[in-house]
Amino acid sequence: MILERRAVDPFFKNGFVLGCEETREGVVIDPGDEVEELLAAVKQHGLAIANILLTHAHLDHVTGVGRAKAALGARVWLHRDDNFLYDAVVQQGQMFGLRVDPQPAIDAFYDAKGAIRFGRYEVHVHHTPGHCPGGVCLAVTREGESTPTLFVGDTLFAGSIGRTDLPGGSSETLLQSIRNVLFAFPDSTVVYSGHGEPTTIGREKRTNPFLQ
Ligand SMILES: [Zn+2]
Ligand SMILES: [Zn+2]
Repeated sequence: MILERRAVDPFFKNGFVLGCEETREGVVIDPGDEVEELLAAVKQHGLAIANILLTHAHLDHVTGVGRAKAALGARVWLHRDDNFLYDAVVQQGQMFGLRVDPQPAIDAFYDAKGAIRFGRYEVHVHHTPGHCPGGVCLAVTREGESTPTLFVGDTLFAGSIGRTDLPGGSSETLLQSIRNVLFAFPDSTVVYSGHGEPTTIGREKRTNPFLQ
């Protein structure tokens, strides 16, 4: 799988470009302030992007949606339970003293109807509320393989967990999402978080101080 990760200040939030090395189809995950770097990676790999997938709607994960959608002509996906946050992105910016532009409306909400595909890969969406009501884990699997690669947004980090003091957050719900949804994947599963370096499910099970 083609996998590019970019992050810029002030939030150092990870945005991702994923692509199928055979068909050159791909997805963009959580375009934020690093959107120009993500678009450069799309171009460099010659990818066609039909879908922009959001793990949740906090402002650091969505400020590049309008730019990415305009450049790629792709559909934007979100969990329905985070739409109130997405619609309030300008106000979220004000909380941090930042001027944020409104973003284009969401095109599709995740549902249980099956996977979103790009080339030989498919993305299964798992609802993981707690950090916010509509947080999801995107589990990306190649045809014929069983262990996915996870994109977990701000639910779980290497050595830490997501904050739960923002609107709609719940620490009890967050821990349930991690234990019941994320920890159900094999220990070898690689995890890419919304901030910081990648980790694995097994490493977080063994060493994450919030989950012992
Ligand atoms: Zn967040
Ligand atoms: Zn974040």
